[in-house]
Amino acid sequence: MIEYISAKTIVTRTKSAEWFGTDYNMNIYKGCCHGCIYCDSRSECYHIDNFEKVRVKQDALRIIRDDLRRKVKKGVINTGAMSDPYNPLEEELCLTRHALELIDAYEFGVSIATKGPLIARDVDILSSIREHSPVICKITITTAADGLSAKVEPGAAVSSKRFEALARLRDCGIFAGILLMPVLPFIEDNEENVRAIIEKASECGCRFIYPAFGMTLRQNQRDYYYEMLNRIFPGENLVGKYRKRYGESYECRSPQAARLYRMLGAECEKRGILYKMKDITHAYKENYGDNQLNFLDMI
Ligand code: SF4
Repeated sequence: MIEYISAKTIVTRTKSAEWFGTDYNMNIYKGCCHGCIYCDSRSECYHIDNFEKVRVKQDALRIIRDDLRRKVKKGVINTGAMSDPYNPLEEELCLTRHALELIDAYEFGVSIATKGPLIARDVDILSSIREHSPVICKITITTAADGLSAKVEPGAAVSSKRFEALARLRDCGIFAGILLMPVLPFIEDNEENVRAIIEKASECGCRFIYPAFGMTLRQNQRDYYYEMLNRIFPGENLVGKYRKRYGESYECRSPQAARLYRMLGAECEKRGILYKMKDITHAYKENYGDNQLNFLDMI
């Protein structure tokens, strides 16, 4: 049975526009059922009980419409932080789809982060939005291997399905690419994996790959992650390696980070794939108001 929760407002101002140049945040759903073993949203600091159960904000579309109507400044609305707008409930409820229709009607832009291939269903509305405002679609892929993605992201579609969605977005002219994060130390941070992702991204016409070679770990998120590592990779002593290398550190940077970043940069340059935040943000906003204003400011 679908569980609804109350909300007063859904489209809220972001604290900083650094993350892909977005202005607002929108979460229609709370919680996420993809079950990624590394999920940060499991941390106690977010105070989300029963995070794996997706709940729906009651009356979401009316609230979003009121929020948009009241905004004085147009901008890009980010969705997909700490919940996935294309979770399994969305197939039936179509709330993300209808929210995109409102975003289109009120002439805002949109930035979507997801692991759900269902995003390809909404290419018609995304195409309509890009007629007037910036659109960027980010699909998270951490491994090129379906077998490994099924282990570390057990509730999400396997990587090949996400690549298919990226190709479909490309075919419809939508600016889309890969969030290559986290890259799990000692599991995904090898050249073979990163090269395979770049190769597939290139085949799918991805405009960008934005990487973070490593992960973050805190509080009960770490306990859960270690428990899952022992279960999924028995006998590999991965937990021992993590403990030795990172102790209680929040930031767990891959020991291979610098080398992989250099390799990714060189390969992306060769293929015309963007990989720096500044370049990606500039490219998807190119030809829309914001960038033109910034350009005039510089003269
Ligand atoms: S998709 Fe994101 S929010 Fe959902 S479980 Fe995975 S990491 Fe967490």
